[in-house]
Amino acid sequence: MLVVMQSDASPEQIARVIAAIREHDLTPHPLPGSTRTAIGITGNTGAVDASAFEALAGVKECIRVTKPYKLASREMHRDDTVVRTPFGDLGPKAFAVIAGPCSVENEPLVMRTAEFLVSKGVRFLRAGAFKPRTSPYAFQGMGVEGLQILKRAREKFGIGIVTELMDTEYAEAVEEAADVIQIGTRNMQNFSLLKRVGKCRKPVLLKRGMSATLEEWLMAAEYVMAGGNYQVILCERGVRTFSDHSRNTLDLSVIPPAKALSHLPVFVDPSHGTGKRAYVPAMSKAALAAGADGILVEAHPDPDHALSDGAQSLDFPGLEKLLGELRTLATVLGREM
Ligand code: PEP
Ligand code: MN
Repeated sequence: MLVVMQSDASPEQIARVIAAIREHDLTPHPLPGSTRTAIGITGNTGAVDASAFEALAGVKECIRVTKPYKLASREMHRDDTVVRTPFGDLGPKAFAVIAGPCSVENEPLVMRTAEFLVSKGVRFLRAGAFKPRTSPYAFQGMGVEGLQILKRAREKFGIGIVTELMDTEYAEAVEEAADVIQIGTRNMQNFSLLKRVGKCRKPVLLKRGMSATLEEWLMAAEYVMAGGNYQVILCERGVRTFSDHSRNTLDLSVIPPAKALSHLPVFVDPSHGTGKRAYVPAMSKAALAAGADGILVEAHPDPDHALSDGAQSLDFPGLEKLLGELRTLATVLGREM
């Protein structure tokens, strides 16, 4: 349920409603909006009795949220969520590009990439220190040492870091190194991991499970938000279909319904979505045209010798060209970038 406060409700009235929700053994989630504050209620197993809250001072109305995902739904929060980081906002105002190699392979690679990205106006570097690889014999990432490299890149170049957390064991270490914590497709329904990042103080970029429906994806976001972390970005990265011309089928058709049903920013990963570098620019531009809030794209100075996902990584000239094309398209679409 959602308790909508009157637009002139005082902080004391809001606090009183929050306390009343707790007195009923329920969890309050204050959601300040552009015109009024609403307070989401979770923790109930059956229907919540609205009469307990409707009579409180400053309350405008109580609304039942019909969707199974509550905090992630637009019914609960009409305004678009803007994810805030020290390196800028992620959300509908400006289309954002997060770029970098699949993995942290070594320090020079990360430094060289960070320097290039900053020189081209890209504010966020992606690179995995922990890598979920299909084969146990493939490069597994540099782990904690990789996180140290990312921290040094942030300090030296002032670039935001997006990096994956695979295991609750490393939550603290990844949270410290990351400006946005990535949860990979294979972990979209790792519920203990989702609960753990719900306790983190950094935003979470939640990849869509490779066979997840939109509702399952939003329920995964709900796990994070139910823990008190409302800064969640959804990221479409392709799903499994019968098609074999691409690594995955990038489901751009999920963007409009995801944005209609949820207030969370929606990003697209055209690299894992296609698996082939040649197709990345077209899908990146399509993502912008379809209403995505940004892309997460793999780029490497020497993709043919990358330790992971080289085939789908753009080289630097390729990324630079794509950035120019996206800027042109953003202008045509009346979007900022
Ligand atoms: C990645 O971003 O490098 C990655 C492993 O992504 P996904 O979880 O979508 O496969
Ligand atoms: Mn990758």
